[in-house]
Amino acid sequence: MIRLPARIEGKPVKREEPCRVCGATSAEQIGTVDYWDIKTSRLVKCPLCRHIQLDPMLTDDETSRGCFAYYIEELLRTGHEEMAKNCVRNFRRGVLFGFSLKKKNILPGQVLELGPGSGYFSAGLQFVFPQCLVTVMDVNPEVLRSNREHHQYKTIQGLPDNFIEEYQGKFDLVIARDIIEHVTNISTVLTNINLYLKPGGHLHFITPNGHEDVWKHYLTAILKGQPSLLLINHVNYYDGKGLRDLLYMKGFTPVDYYTYTIKTTLRGSGWKKSSKLMNPVSGNGGMNLNISDPNSTGLKQQAGTFLNSAGEYINNKTREFSNIGFSKEEILNHWYISHKATWITYLYSRFQHGVIIRLRPELNVGHEIYGLFKTVVH
Ligand SMILES: [Zn+2]
Repeated sequence: MIRLPARIEGKPVKREEPCRVCGATSAEQIGTVDYWDIKTSRLVKCPLCRHIQLDPMLTDDETSRGCFAYYIEELLRTGHEEMAKNCVRNFRRGVLFGFSLKKKNILPGQVLELGPGSGYFSAGLQFVFPQCLVTVMDVNPEVLRSNREHHQYKTIQGLPDNFIEEYQGKFDLVIARDIIEHVTNISTVLTNINLYLKPGGHLHFITPNGHEDVWKHYLTAILKGQPSLLLINHVNYYDGKGLRDLLYMKGFTPVDYYTYTIKTTLRGSGWKKSSKLMNPVSGNGGMNLNISDPNSTGLKQQAGTFLNSAGEYINNKTREFSNIGFSKEEILNHWYISHKATWITYLYSRFQHGVIIRLRPELNVGHEIYGLFKTVVH
């Protein structure tokens, strides 16, 4: 019988840094990753809270270098048309999210989005709540510039790890979609988010189910016995129960908390010990890695032939960098997007992105965790 999810077995090691969730000093090593050519870290699992993270963790400088290289790589890989499509998809998800808040009678006025990407998720939210004011925080000035130009959002250059006092207690809603798997200290980040929120404010996040996300690196370790390549800085791999406990400890109580998208699980992620699901071996820091291999999970359609050096990559490719190239009006020019009939926009968005199957994150099955949490008023 298949056990879902399969157990990830590690060997006890002495960790360099204590667990960033619970402070434990013991760990089990379950793999090794090379973050570009920037750093080699162990993937360790905490025996107490089950959180999986990099040991040692990336520094801010290492993170920025790798993130900028990845940002450019992604821009080059994704064509203009596809980029515009992604914007609309995020817009529809924002619309759907906005309506779900409305149904709960949650009406945000001041919104802070961490790591907004194209900014179209919040634009969808604004479509539902035209009065709400959006501020975005990112470390990348290019992202901030594009958010200002497309959406006229207020922008803050910074990392969620570093608290900025002037924004304390300013927001009704903080959005962190695909952010918390990237932060070096999740405990600090959640403390900061709570401080940015008004009493009774909400936090919305999505993040990969850590068990499935780490599975590809685990397979590289057990099937090849070599470090796997880490291009996008997923430094946290969350356990469904551990994440809920941590949020609770940081003053948040769940409104919605579930895992969705199970097709990855059906394909074997999280339980099948198949080399097809394995992350590519980094080799000598990724030299001549064939990343166009369609079997390399999460690295599909990559155009380059090797990505051995983040520094070189940034220097050589920045020149090719270009912007989305469409205006907001062009991007949102679709028959179903109209302020005159927002219910049509809602129905179409639900048709495209509505979630049918919801699982308890504590099961650690499925691809993505959805969270809407409320701050506990003391
Ligand atoms: Zn721990």
